[in-house]
Amino acid sequence: MTMDANTDDDETHSEIEFPEENRQSNVEEDHSEENTDETSVSTESTFDLTLPATHSYLGHNLEELRGRTILDDGLYVNLPLLIKESVMLFPGQTLPMIVLEAPIIDMIKACIENDRTLGVVCIYDKIVPIGTTAEIYECMYDHQQGFRLKAKGRQRFKILRVIIEGYDKISADVQVLPEITLGPPFLDERLASLNHLRIHPKTEEDFKKQEKVENLDAVVTPWPGWVYRQYDPLRLSLKIRQRLQFIENKGSGIPEDPADLSFWVAQNLFLDDYERIVLLNYDCAISRLQREIKYLLNDKIFVCSNCDSYIGKQSQIFPMSKEGPQGTYCNRAGIIHETVTLYHAQGLRLSESEPSIEYTWFPGYAWIVAMCKNCDTHMGWKFIAVQNNLKPKTFWALTCKSLKSKEK
Ligand SMILES: [Zn+2]
Repeated sequence: MTMDANTDDDETHSEIEFPEENRQSNVEEDHSEENTDETSVSTESTFDLTLPATHSYLGHNLEELRGRTILDDGLYVNLPLLIKESVMLFPGQTLPMIVLEAPIIDMIKACIENDRTLGVVCIYDKIVPIGTTAEIYECMYDHQQGFRLKAKGRQRFKILRVIIEGYDKISADVQVLPEITLGPPFLDERLASLNHLRIHPKTEEDFKKQEKVENLDAVVTPWPGWVYRQYDPLRLSLKIRQRLQFIENKGSGIPEDPADLSFWVAQNLFLDDYERIVLLNYDCAISRLQREIKYLLNDKIFVCSNCDSYIGKQSQIFPMSKEGPQGTYCNRAGIIHETVTLYHAQGLRLSESEPSIEYTWFPGYAWIVAMCKNCDTHMGWKFIAVQNNLKPKTFWALTCKSLKSKEK
């Protein structure tokens, strides 16, 4: 058994509403069976969170590519196109890949000789016309293992025309989209006489102090101060960071810059594909952060995307990587899984094979394939510590594709 268990592709996803009583009975049933499991899962961690982000399972002999390509905003350019089902890349996100298909290997080789930049788009019924450039920063090719590489999401682009040449050689004429940065909402209306009272607010207290100054600024504008405050990127960022404190407390870095934060949240918050496409479409961090705050207001539950069985809840999510609780990992067959890590999950059944450390995404942990107990869909893996003193002793990494979120 390899980590590519991926049997749910062709199944139709049920749209049936999840009955409350049913969920309750599932919870009770699973609780009794897995109660010991939940109580034994410690939230203490001795794991080095920097390890998963290195994607060491790809091997240690990858060649580092130097330099950085930044495409000008608004630039029209032709990019080789990588089309991925349900892998949506955001700027800042790491994309590990193993490429075994000959036409894509050729494309990657040409790309590395050029500026190492390719376009990544996902499919949502059809190709989504907005994507993100990926810059390859490490790679290695050999006949047996194909191309192993790591790339980083950089800039958003809009597809103008897809060009298909021969078999599987796909590129697109694209326009690089700008990231619009707006300054403080009162910048043009500021009263110079109040300048000595202005500070660069970082804490909630600072912002409270600034409110008085802002209200005075707003007197000469058509709207009251609170209207402007809804469009303040620093205030929006603070609100989001406060709600994500539990992740930061567990050792994961959360970006401070509003634009970086807005992309981080889009990648790490469990969102369905449609919502992520909406976020990728926005040109400005303010719109992204405003939408993201709404997702953070309520604790959500996760159900199996195929049969709606209860699996877990948002508060069980924790980061096993410095980059956040949600990560993109690649298996030996080249299948890329976006996964989320949870302390505890239920309604799952483990495969009967022995735990394996082969190609493990979390060094020091062995994995076992996990399926939905109700419908047998592949959901992800249970990871079990094989090194003494490694904590947490066990955790779950579930694929985003196999889960659906619902309001509690
Ligand atoms: Zn299921």
